[in-house]
Amino acid sequence: MLPEHSKPGDTIVQCNDCGHLWPYSGSNELAVCPKCGLNTRVMANQRGMVLSSDERTCIEIDQYSQTVRRALSLGLKQGDRDYRKGIADAFPTKGGEYCGI
Ligand SMILES: [Zn+2]
Repeated sequence: MLPEHSKPGDTIVQCNDCGHLWPYSGSNELAVCPKCGLNTRVMANQRGMVLSSDERTCIEIDQYSQTVRRALSLGLKQGDRDYRKGIADAFPTKGGEYCGI
């Protein structure tokens, strides 16, 4: 399942060092692990972007650039149900078990 407090548009990042998974809502290249404090490269260690917290789904963002990911994240944060459904149709999705444990 998704880490706690995951919101649409968050990137699920896994810490390189301690393996902790958390929802990252910023758009920097580095994020600080809330558990051990290590700087983690978001793109190399992401497990997807949260599409829906209720349905526990993520979209795969591995192949997308920083610019596309930023736009997606913003859209998902502001968008409504219909917008999210459109994204789900346009991008590959994966269930929550793949974006978090
Ligand atoms: Zn860590």
